[in-house]
Amino acid sequence: MDNYPPSVNELVDAHSNSGIPRPLLVEEARIAIDEGKWERLDERVDALRKLALQEVINATGVLLHTNLGRASWPTTFSGNPVNLELDLNSGSRGSRQGYLGHLFANLCKTEAAMVVNNCSSAVLLILSALAHEKGVAISRGEMVEIGGGFRVPDVLELSGAYLVEVGTTNKTRREDYERSINAHRDVSMIMKIHQSNYKIVGFTESAEIRELADLNVPLVADIGSGLLDENCFWLESGPPNWLIGEPGARQTLAEGADIVTFSSDKLLGGPQAGIIAGKADLIEKCLDHPFARAVRPGSLVLSSLQELCHKYLNRQWTEIPFWKMALTTKDELQDRAEHFDIGEPVALNSVPGGGTLPGVEIPSYGIQIDHDISRELRDGTEDNLPIIARVEDRKTLLDLRTIHPSLDDQVMTSLKQIL
Ligand SMILES: *Cc1c(COP(=O)(O)O)cnc(C)c1O
Repeated sequence: MDNYPPSVNELVDAHSNSGIPRPLLVEEARIAIDEGKWERLDERVDALRKLALQEVINATGVLLHTNLGRASWPTTFSGNPVNLELDLNSGSRGSRQGYLGHLFANLCKTEAAMVVNNCSSAVLLILSALAHEKGVAISRGEMVEIGGGFRVPDVLELSGAYLVEVGTTNKTRREDYERSINAHRDVSMIMKIHQSNYKIVGFTESAEIRELADLNVPLVADIGSGLLDENCFWLESGPPNWLIGEPGARQTLAEGADIVTFSSDKLLGGPQAGIIAGKADLIEKCLDHPFARAVRPGSLVLSSLQELCHKYLNRQWTEIPFWKMALTTKDELQDRAEHFDIGEPVALNSVPGGGTLPGVEIPSYGIQIDHDISRELRDGTEDNLPIIARVEDRKTLLDLRTIHPSLDDQVMTSLKQIL
């Protein structure tokens, strides 16, 4: 065998169909030659190709899969100019938040709303704009970390506000908030943080929003999950059972919160953003804060959210993929599973995921393969998308709830190629 390395050009040309831009291929080829492993350049290029963002099939049964970008929401964007900050009425400068703020205010049945990059920036902006160098009363039971290092005490410190701890880990009552507000004269806000991704069970008590509404400082509720209305006004059938107990933005505001914050890529089912909704004077202060500019979304996200809001207001829930997936009946899924001519149809449980509704399971149906082929599925093929499946007891499970029915044939083909 020839021990001299081929030229960089030759190696790069051999991978020109990989989808990786040439300058990156040159880099990989040089490293491979340096290491004397040019015959294994394929592996390097393949590994790089897998790092690139690409469409995948979510067969995990986790509706809001954090590693798959939570909610899937299709965007149609031509790239043409949009009136992002131009008021077409007057021809002068407008606000990128105006119409969308109006839509979210209407959806939440409140005075005003604005949109930022995610719920973490919503919380950070509110604390910076409304509580800088002031105290914020938070229950010891809500001093939490919400995935990926978003720790409530750290965010508070970053904003320049300071923490006034209230109550105990398992029990916090209205009197505890009252006492701490009286003891610290510069408490300027109460913040309630929804236990999105964990549960405290047993000997517990926490103050309700309605008990704290009259304490004379703004009451901010981070509800996180983005359920607009506990009654799901957009669904003819009302809320599904598994949603019971999840706080809605409408209800939290109606009970007396001055502001709610939530993510738009969880139960709302949209692209990544954070919503701040509530009293107009408080929203105004957030909009005016210099930090607001640093966390403002661009036209891509804003137009996409606008489309989502229209779907909610027009009650076109079947066009919101999250709700369509969540409400597909088990019978329908079983029917699809039985049409697969490969693998074993099997009853499964889907979960909402995305750090929402811990412990909730939604009965589902899927396909079981009696050994672990998750790696092969993830590889995909030239014609078929990578499939992300679940492995339990060395069996591969593909939950059909999170797979669009139009992709069933593709999944079947991939399974046949692998098995
Ligand atoms: C998910 C969540 C967050 C963080 O939201 P991001 O949009 O991921 O930044 C904050 N608070 C609560 C209560 C949450 O559930």
